[in-house]
Amino acid sequence: MNKNFWRQMVVLVVIVVFFNYLYLVMAPKQQEPATSISYSRFKAELERDNIEQLVFQGQGMSGRFREAVVIEPSGAVVEETGYLNFETVLPPVPDPELLPALERHDVEIEARQEEQPSPWTSALIYILPWLLIIGVWWFILKGMRNRQGPGGGLMGGFSKSGAKLYLQQRSPITFKDVAGLDEVKQELLEIVEYLRNPKKFARIGGKVPRGVLLVGPPGTGKTLVARAVAGEAEVPFFSISASQFIEMFVGVGASRVRDLFNTAKKSAPSIIFIDELDAVGRSRGTGLGGGNDEREQTLNQLLSEMDGFEPHEEVIVMSATNRPDVLDTALLRPGRFDRQVFLGRPDWRAREEILQVHTRRVPLAEDVDLRVIARATPGMCGADLENLVNEAALLAAREDAEQVAMIHFENAKDRVLLGAERKLVLTDQEKRITAFHEAGHALLAKLSPDADPVHKVSIIPRGRALGVTQQLPENDRYHYPRSYLMTRITVSLAGRAAEKATFGEYSTGAEQDLKEASELAEKMVCQWGMSDKVGPLTFDRGEEHPFLGRKLAISKTFSEQMTWIIDQEIEKIVKGAEEQADRLVAGHRKALDRLAEALLEEEVLDGPRIDAILTAAGISLPAEKPIAGDQPAVEG
Ligand code: ADP
Ligand code: MG
Ligand code: ZN
Repeated sequence: MNKNFWRQMVVLVVIVVFFNYLYLVMAPKQQEPATSISYSRFKAELERDNIEQLVFQGQGMSGRFREAVVIEPSGAVVEETGYLNFETVLPPVPDPELLPALERHDVEIEARQEEQPSPWTSALIYILPWLLIIGVWWFILKGMRNRQGPGGGLMGGFSKSGAKLYLQQRSPITFKDVAGLDEVKQELLEIVEYLRNPKKFARIGGKVPRGVLLVGPPGTGKTLVARAVAGEAEVPFFSISASQFIEMFVGVGASRVRDLFNTAKKSAPSIIFIDELDAVGRSRGTGLGGGNDEREQTLNQLLSEMDGFEPHEEVIVMSATNRPDVLDTALLRPGRFDRQVFLGRPDWRAREEILQVHTRRVPLAEDVDLRVIARATPGMCGADLENLVNEAALLAAREDAEQVAMIHFENAKDRVLLGAERKLVLTDQEKRITAFHEAGHALLAKLSPDADPVHKVSIIPRGRALGVTQQLPENDRYHYPRSYLMTRITVSLAGRAAEKATFGEYSTGAEQDLKEASELAEKMVCQWGMSDKVGPLTFDRGEEHPFLGRKLAISKTFSEQMTWIIDQEIEKIVKGAEEQADRLVAGHRKALDRLAEALLEEEVLDGPRIDAILTAAGISLPAEKPIAGDQPAVEG
């Protein structure tokens, strides 16, 4: 019998017993409906010879009339049909006339003992609530134990059997499943070699790192790489997420670390993988939200376990984090996680490889060119690309298509980048405003040689935006020249400029544009030293808190005067860009109108179509410089 079966049985029994109990306690001894009458009424009925049967039970009497009796309402409902049964209570003073009267009227008499619940029932009534309370308590505990993983319970043995908690497996994933990341794989190959043949390393006297820390943004394949190392080395892989260490009870975290290391040592050579290390590995004593003793104990235990390896214990500790900056420095000391491996966002070649890996089992149509997709998805990480392939396959499936075609990828990309299409009913005027707004972005992006090429413009509402101008860089880029940034701000403001030029006023549609323009300008001044007055200084004006959505108060380290200058410089940049946008829009009215009209007509314009419209409007476009950003530029 497996555990589950018994658990279900127990639940069943508890439920059945519970309802029986309820029944026992609550349910009245159900007979036919009886009416309560007074003793004198009873006597009256007796005199009328209308009592057929009578049962004595303690102080109570119940019985049956010969004919149904309609009880006069004492404010209650009148029963038309009357009652055949009644109950009443004997008066405390003995009534010597009663028995003779009963006999005279030929009443059938029965006497019962006052009802005593059987000893069993009373025992049950007494015990059951306790049983229930204990049962519930037991289940809650059980639940906790399960959340900690089987065996890691409160009551005893959690340090003994805790090992089951860790996902021990021989990983089916190998380096073949990891695309790109060639340097990372190269670096980890050494560890694979060691795990495969530890003796060899020992003979040569080579020293292999004990701890490897994988560092990189979310979704870049850290977890994947760790599993691939285990798969390549063909050794057991003990994986746990650091947050699991400190989940429930005080003191468990540290003992879990101990367990984990002991178990891994027993099955050496093996790999321990602690995912999301920052959950326990944050610097001690500086915990935001109060110090966390539990976490610190766990961390201390982890540190001492990592120090405590004997040379012959062939266990590699791998770990992953996307916040290396918050890790306790003690973790990075030699002998611990002294080897750090960085996983960056993939460049387009790596993206193509990742797409190849994830489309292995997807039937692709002829027209699908993974390279084109890879180039059009700057800034996406492995997890995003996997998601993209998935979305495309879903879209194809929804259309009952046999194969996933390029159009599915294109739509999936828009979905992932911009959100799902929305069925919004816009008035004609709203549509016109949106069309001119987007045409403004597109026109200026086309006119500026520095800007990223325009991939497409659309006035189909998506996500939070009513329309979108999508610029995609040709190549991934790691530097942004000032001219590029200025152009970007100008293009951001162009939607607004076009609205103003056409309708004479601004609308709220440019909120996101303004935000982007101001933020970029602020960064140019405060972080990148791109303004004359402020010069090559950096200022922390407060970062937006990722969860609160507002800036955290920071201690200001610069003067009021500098604040004023910074504000001036930011304003200068944004105002300058605005003037430039206004000037360009005014100088190309005809082209703007043509673009907007085409947008209203066709809703979506791709790059070549835009070129055609602009050329027809008599504009000679600057030769496109392949400049690229790491992030796709999207103007709402
Ligand atoms: P991280 O742990 O860095 O947040 P994961 O390893 O969990 O990221 O990656 C999430 C998913 O993204 C993986 O399961 C994998 O399918 C995909 N992925 C990420 N990077 C790659 C890559 N380089 N090659 C193939 N797939 C990848
Ligand atoms: Mg991960
Ligand atoms: Zn806009």
